[in-house]
Amino acid sequence: MAELIPVEDALKIVLDNVNETPVNEVHMLDALGCPVAEDLFSDTDINAFDDTAMDGFAVRARDIAGASKDNPVELKIMDVIGAGYVYNGTIGKGEAVRIMTGAAMADGTDTVVKIEDVTVTGKGEKGDTVVITKPQEFGVNVRKAGEEAKKGDKVFNQGDVINAAGVGLLSTTGNFKLKIHKQPKVAVISIGSELVDSSEVPPFGMRRDSNRYTLSAMALEAGGDVTLYPIVSDDPEAIEKIYRDAKENSDIVVSSGGACGGDFDYITKVITDLSDVKFEAVNMKPGKAQTFGVCADGTLLFGLSGNPAACATGFEMLVRPAIRKMLGFKDLERPHVEAILGADFKKKGTRRNLLRGKLSLGADGEYVATPLKSQSSGLIGETAKSDCLIVIPEDFTGVMEKGTKVDCIRTDVTEGTVL
Ligand code: AMP
Ligand code: MG
Repeated sequence: MAELIPVEDALKIVLDNVNETPVNEVHMLDALGCPVAEDLFSDTDINAFDDTAMDGFAVRARDIAGASKDNPVELKIMDVIGAGYVYNGTIGKGEAVRIMTGAAMADGTDTVVKIEDVTVTGKGEKGDTVVITKPQEFGVNVRKAGEEAKKGDKVFNQGDVINAAGVGLLSTTGNFKLKIHKQPKVAVISIGSELVDSSEVPPFGMRRDSNRYTLSAMALEAGGDVTLYPIVSDDPEAIEKIYRDAKENSDIVVSSGGACGGDFDYITKVITDLSDVKFEAVNMKPGKAQTFGVCADGTLLFGLSGNPAACATGFEMLVRPAIRKMLGFKDLERPHVEAILGADFKKKGTRRNLLRGKLSLGADGEYVATPLKSQSSGLIGETAKSDCLIVIPEDFTGVMEKGTKVDCIRTDVTEGTVL
């Protein structure tokens, strides 16, 4: 009987054997959602010049210091400047430039009076005058050069995750190409002589393969570059052959099935032949049977249980963190919340139970975590409906009553989110 190791120990062993993938230079849009692989700096001041935040008139504040309704100040309009155009001269006493948002402040001016706060003669064009009836605080409506960043400022730390606005910041700071870690290649295999593809109606005694698709989707969600391998029957030579091929072409090989120690379960033997096996069983339910091995070239092999909920939970707890670490994510743990158990739950045995649960809010705004009806590891539907894993500790046995405080792993929220 394989040693049953605690979930935390299994995760530590996996992560200790994970190396970040090599880096790749990509266009900034392809970095969306990815951690940056290096510190990034701005190549210019942003902006490189003072500009106006408003459509209006660029003036010298001192020229209009005494302006009032009874004492209007009239300034000569020297030019009309839109964003992208630059006033060539220097504005002197009694002069102003009509200026649009984003245009560089005209030399000599320091303050912008909003268009709504002035009257003009004529059409307010070059050669007309602008009439101002109240003073403005020095510098009002002017955005200072370097407000966003100075040339050489660090704008991203290695490991920061690029969101949509982050792509904009990459663009404005001249980082339109940047380095991120390559997507780990994840090979997904389904093992089982009873399996048929989803396009077929299974004959009596057979079942459709769900795990290859669940695991592929989970690997994609985690950031992997997924290859689906064909279904392989419970034949040790066939399993070894497909595993050998997959491991040559992947950073991670993950299979389901052949894992429960039954007469036709060969995955532990195959992984043992191909790698250094670190563990074969984890103290969790579902997902006990998990063979993990590390190949000489660093490729990670995961032989997960065939039971659909068990293999999904095993992937969630151990494979997803490995993929994220390869990609350079710093946050590898899903957020936890404390919740009130929404229904009695009877626990047998000494494994840590991870119940597929659904969260809601109680009358006082507290989280209520309700275990979904069937906790059978053989079903995938309840996993599909769940948004959390309710942790029932290994040392608890008996009935955990509705209302008991429980720890929940939010599987619907990204690692690093503060709840
Ligand atoms: P095993 O780990 O091979 O003993 O499989 C445990 C249970 O999971 C059995 O009932 C299998 O039929 C089922 N199973 C194995 N692989 C899959 C799969 N890819 N999709 C759906 N069910 C599976
Ligand atoms: Mg099987």
